[in-house]
Amino acid sequence: MPGLIVQKYGGSSVASADLIKNVARRIAGVHESGTRVVGVVSAMGDTTDDLLALARQVNPEPHDRELALLWSTGEIVTSALLTMALQALGHESVALTGFQAGIKTNAFHTKAQILDIDSRRIDAALDRGAIPVVAGFQGFTEEMDVSVLGRGGSDTTAVALAIALKADRCEILKDVDGVFTADPRVVPQARKLDHISYEEVMELARAGSQVLHPRASELGETYAMPIMVRSSFHEAPGTTIVRGEDMPLEGRERIRAVAHDTDVGRITIVGVPDRPGIAFQVFQPLEAAAINVDVIVQNVSQENVTDISFTIARSDLTKAFRLVQPVAQEMGAREVTSADNLAKISVVGSGLAANPGYAATMFGTLADAGINIVSITTSEIRITCLIDETKVTDAARALHRAFKLEEA
Ligand code: ASP
Ligand code: MG
Repeated sequence: MPGLIVQKYGGSSVASADLIKNVARRIAGVHESGTRVVGVVSAMGDTTDDLLALARQVNPEPHDRELALLWSTGEIVTSALLTMALQALGHESVALTGFQAGIKTNAFHTKAQILDIDSRRIDAALDRGAIPVVAGFQGFTEEMDVSVLGRGGSDTTAVALAIALKADRCEILKDVDGVFTADPRVVPQARKLDHISYEEVMELARAGSQVLHPRASELGETYAMPIMVRSSFHEAPGTTIVRGEDMPLEGRERIRAVAHDTDVGRITIVGVPDRPGIAFQVFQPLEAAAINVDVIVQNVSQENVTDISFTIARSDLTKAFRLVQPVAQEMGAREVTSADNLAKISVVGSGLAANPGYAATMFGTLADAGINIVSITTSEIRITCLIDETKVTDAARALHRAFKLEEA
């Protein structure tokens, strides 16, 4: 029996008073079994989206500092309510904001990274037998501003806390049973995986599947913190995330999953004079604005003029366009265009490194399904194709079949 676990409950697992009471019973069960437990919570249901929509009603472009402050309230509400529910069950419990939990971050208000955790307050609560419930997703900057860790960041709060507290395990409890070979809503044959590696989870996140916040897997791998993704509605074991070398042998060299992402915007800078430094000039302002750039394609230049295109989250499209346009103009580019009708389809698995034939299988499968590939990017264990958004379901199903992912 582990001595200490951190349990993080996602937004749909705490979306109502009844669900919060359900989570309280579950946490109480762990506590009563003699295992110390720290709860980490997301905002209830769609609160984070709703708060953003509300902000935009008063200002179409809210400043990051105030948006972070506004967003942080969602998780604070849940932590207070869950604590009250635990108290109603007769347990000593204490709700903590990110600030009270000692979570220090850098100054990117809405996409902050955790720098350090001063866990004294949590340690003290645990020492007196209380159950700390920490508001996920948030921390505070050196300037004492409230910061948040980027969408989905409560996972990172949980894993970082598990590491800081030297917990035996971090559990991520969701409205799904674990990590699947594809999104079951899109591919009905999708199957739950027993194991997956941190690296594969990270690549799945880059490919757009919301298994775990990428920073959470990165931290988990660095500190070898075992993470289990499981359902908050029943006790069945979910998917355990382990280091690649700890994967069961028979599962190692495979394609693990198909992922798709429709939150894709693309910007193309047409007719850029090809000279040293242009990529830097284009991407530096995006990096400074903490906009993640993904699939980057620069064409082979003709007569010293080239095109550069890249993808970003669709929600960053307007901002990125505005940052890129003056730079492009200054460079003498012909024009800047944007597209919001594309999607990414990816296959992920450590098997890719060993089997160059898998790339051909992917391209052949898409070709047979009559799906045009706009551009391709790869990592060692991922291949991503940009395709028309309307073809994404067909592509996911065809690839799931081609790689026999329904078979254990
Ligand atoms: N509530 C935040 C979001 O929806 C953080 C999280 O749930 O992890 O992005
Ligand atoms: Mg959420």
